[in-house]
Amino acid sequence: MLLFDAHLDLSMNALEWNRDLRSSLQDINEREKGMTDKPDRGNAVISLDELRKGNIGIVVATQIARYVDKSSTLPGWHSPEQAWAQTQGQLAYYKALETLGELSPIRNWEELQAHVEYWNNSQDTKKKIGYILSLEGADSIITVDHLDIAYNYGLRALGPAHYGPGRYAQGTNATGGLGEAGRALLARMQQLGIILDATHLCDDSFWEAMEHYDGPVWASHHNCRALVNHNRQFTDEQFKELIRRGAVIGMPLDAWMMVPNWVRGVSTPQNMQVSLNTMIDHLDHICQIAGNTNHVGLGTDLDGGFGTEQCPYDIQSIADLQKIPDLLSKRGYSSDDIEKICHKNWIGFLEKNWK
Ligand SMILES: [Zn+2]
Repeated sequence: MLLFDAHLDLSMNALEWNRDLRSSLQDINEREKGMTDKPDRGNAVISLDELRKGNIGIVVATQIARYVDKSSTLPGWHSPEQAWAQTQGQLAYYKALETLGELSPIRNWEELQAHVEYWNNSQDTKKKIGYILSLEGADSIITVDHLDIAYNYGLRALGPAHYGPGRYAQGTNATGGLGEAGRALLARMQQLGIILDATHLCDDSFWEAMEHYDGPVWASHHNCRALVNHNRQFTDEQFKELIRRGAVIGMPLDAWMMVPNWVRGVSTPQNMQVSLNTMIDHLDHICQIAGNTNHVGLGTDLDGGFGTEQCPYDIQSIADLQKIPDLLSKRGYSSDDIEKICHKNWIGFLEKNWK
């Protein structure tokens, strides 16, 4: 089954974790033995070959760089220009992988159609993974004019916020609206047809964005507040609004968002019983709200600053996502539903908005 993963931070891992995604997963993890600078050292689950093994033929791949002022305790750059430069380095990594035939950019409906055709029919043992470029947090967009530059190099989705306060919108654990800059950013996004990624918007910014933006909206990696009560998650009301707009919501696999009472660095996937089935609980909750399976997909975030220490225990490699069709089937999902969840909902969303 072709899988579409709507949220991976591939470049961030290459540049900030110093992971060579062209190496084997084993090599990536071996080189991190004994390192303690990040909590997920030695626990990576992603390499380009593991994506191929898992038949994950299309990903949404991010650029990400935060700006922080003096008062912030979050990691980030001290000016938007530095953040922009960081995202340009990340873009350069994707471009280098394109040159090597590892990745293939998807920027419009024709390219998406051609890629699906290629992926399903090519006998190539090292197939090019299709990627749609997204930006997680808009701090690095120095001025709204930089959005045009980004669109021209292939940016097709943007989440205005990440963790904390942002220059254009307020994110997870923050409060407040978009302000003038945020509204101007959304207006230009709408003109360009850039998809609004609602993930990480705080409640105030989310509702203000819904009021001011009429373009395509998705939530690339988002779980349910009804199941795990935290402001990072969407309420049922927020899901209803997204569904009304035809959004697709990607299911992330970060354990702390999947089960209540996760304690970072203490809880383990085994002792908290976090598995891919837990992900299906969240997915099913959204399907119950929608009354159908048309609005859910995968947005695993499996390289988003965590690895096996904080993801479902039945995942040692991203290739294990291929267990999902069977698990869905055991939960009563039809083969049509499973295809929609695995790739068709994302592809259908892009068809509708790009064609
Ligand atoms: Zn995220």
